[in-house]
Amino acid sequence: MSTITRDALKTALLYGLLSIFWLAFSDYLLPLLIDDSIQLARAQLMSGYGWLALSALCIFLARARLSGLMSARSRARQDKDMQSLRLAAAVFDCTLEGVLVTDADGVIVHVNRAFMEITGYQQDEVLGQRPSKFKSGRHGPDFYERMYKTVLSAGQWSGEIWNRRKSGEIYPQWQSIRTVKNDQGAITHFVAVFSDISSIKHSQQELAHAAHYDALTGLPNRLLFSDRAEQAHTHARRSKQSLGLLLIDLDHFKHINDSLGHNTGDEVLKAVSERLVRLVDKGATLARLGGDEFAVLVEGPGQSVHVVELAQALLDGLREPFVIAEQTLFLTASIGISLFPNDAMNAAQLLRNADTALFQAKSQGREGYALYTEELTAHAQRRLELTAELRRAIELDELRVFYQPIHNLKTRRIEGVEALVRWCHPQRGMVSPGEFIPVAEQSGLIADIDNWVLTEACRQMCLWHEAGVGLSFVAVNVSSRLFGRGDLDTRVAQVLAETGLAPEFLELEVTESAVMDDPEQAIEQMHRLRELGLKLSIDDFGTGYSSMLRLKRMPVQKLKIDQGFVAGLPGDDDDIAIVRAIIALAKAMGMRVLAEGIEQADQAAFLLHNQCELGQGYWFARPVPAEQIDWEHAPVFAQAL
Ligand code: C2E
Ligand code: MG
Ligand code: MG
Repeated sequence: MSTITRDALKTALLYGLLSIFWLAFSDYLLPLLIDDSIQLARAQLMSGYGWLALSALCIFLARARLSGLMSARSRARQDKDMQSLRLAAAVFDCTLEGVLVTDADGVIVHVNRAFMEITGYQQDEVLGQRPSKFKSGRHGPDFYERMYKTVLSAGQWSGEIWNRRKSGEIYPQWQSIRTVKNDQGAITHFVAVFSDISSIKHSQQELAHAAHYDALTGLPNRLLFSDRAEQAHTHARRSKQSLGLLLIDLDHFKHINDSLGHNTGDEVLKAVSERLVRLVDKGATLARLGGDEFAVLVEGPGQSVHVVELAQALLDGLREPFVIAEQTLFLTASIGISLFPNDAMNAAQLLRNADTALFQAKSQGREGYALYTEELTAHAQRRLELTAELRRAIELDELRVFYQPIHNLKTRRIEGVEALVRWCHPQRGMVSPGEFIPVAEQSGLIADIDNWVLTEACRQMCLWHEAGVGLSFVAVNVSSRLFGRGDLDTRVAQVLAETGLAPEFLELEVTESAVMDDPEQAIEQMHRLRELGLKLSIDDFGTGYSSMLRLKRMPVQKLKIDQGFVAGLPGDDDDIAIVRAIIALAKAMGMRVLAEGIEQADQAAFLLHNQCELGQGYWFARPVPAEQIDWEHAPVFAQAL
């Protein structure tokens, strides 16, 4: 029971007692004191009035006291409310979290000081605006829709959201939004409280960076490298691509640390990493696995020779002196190589095998590379040496053009010659194109070689014509690699212009495989070449997979029957059938037909009998230098062209 109620009860009790006493007084005492009935009646009336006045006084006093009490209480409550409001405002203002209040329509009605500090906006710039003003553009409409739905259904939402500061910078914030409802349950306000978490994010990133990158060089560390190798391996397996892993270890690095100190050692490692970054392709992953060990992961290198070339380039690059703390240091390294899918089935194995290969490279006397398998090392080494030698051979003019006569089978006279490249190796003597053309094709040297052979052949043809030799064509082989490039016709036109040879005396030999790689582009290229006025022939015909349909579309004037079919003549039934079919096909398409590799008289006789027009082979003549050609059967023009 409250004090007020207790007081009220006491007062009521007192009033009751006084009333009883008063009634007793007026009813029993007054008749005893006053005898006169008129006087008594008046006195009783007066007593009644007196009681009434007293009651009114009591009621007045009670009310006055009550209201006094009540107003004192409400004043106290108001004071308390004001105090808590002041407290809330102080908290609101002091808190490090930004606070934003909108009305039910989403119009901003209040923001605190932290809001202004975080966003860079002043109060008057945002009041009356909507929170969409701060959108960063990082979240799609779906995100905001889901957020508002949750706020409306659950009364609150919290999560990470990217907003934009006044400066334009976008930043992450952790935000909680709540609804404020009135007594009827209708939303009156939305309150958003948020904190700027960009520094947390930043330190998270720094942590992740520290976990994945080497602090000294800034390169990926072993953890990240293994992860990338795993991913690359999965990708390579799916897309049937190759992978190469090179493990690089500096030779005798311990001596540098021991003699020059660890600080210089660190500087050397930094300089080595910078040099490796420059030497390694952007697409490859370079990492420092620890100590003086680095690794490179090459995706889709195609041929093992490309990985080996990279290894050689890295070794050469590291051999250049390093200048550290005013000292010139000479370093060498060893490299272990393993390849997928040749050597390993998974990424971990790839790394292990590269390590084994590295050990092998070190034990072979350092400053070199080794592939996981020995025969690969030997093969790759041979290829690489050959590439380097071939490059040098071009510069030193070691290539020669030999010419093999092409005879008319009927007249036996020389109608034309085929230009065949030779390499006069200082130690190995004459190297056949079968050995070095594939290497030249892989290394890209073929463009220079073919261009040179073409120029030489055209120049020689002009010399023959000037000397009165009546040759109707010089045939030059064109690598299928050059057919994929669109500028073959421009190059040929340039050579013709340079040498002054009339285009009708030039014939380009193209293999079927050149057409197979990209038939549309090849056929287009052939048409452009034909427009120059020269002739085209298909070399080694029958060994590729040309369709009749495609053959029909090719602007070709001659088919050269591959020597593989000629070799079986005149005894092998299959070869007989194939050669006859090719001759018939050529005739039907209005092309001339030539048989390669004629080594015996009966082969020539069989071909002549079967209407083959032209022949080339050791039985007539071997490929020889221009001046050694026996023109005995050549028709000689009466006057020079
Ligand atoms: P190919 O164009 O089919 O040239 C014919 C090859 O057969 C030549 O081999 C020639 O010496 C050889 N040969 C000629 N008659 C006979 C014979 O009676 N019996 C036997 N067994 N062989 C005979 P070579 O000179 O070793 O050339 C091989 C291939 O290298 C050529 O085949 C051609 O595809 C390529 N090649 C040669 N020179 C060049 C060139 O300058 N550029 C390009 N891209 N390729 C060339
Ligand atoms: Mg040829
Ligand atoms: Mg051939």
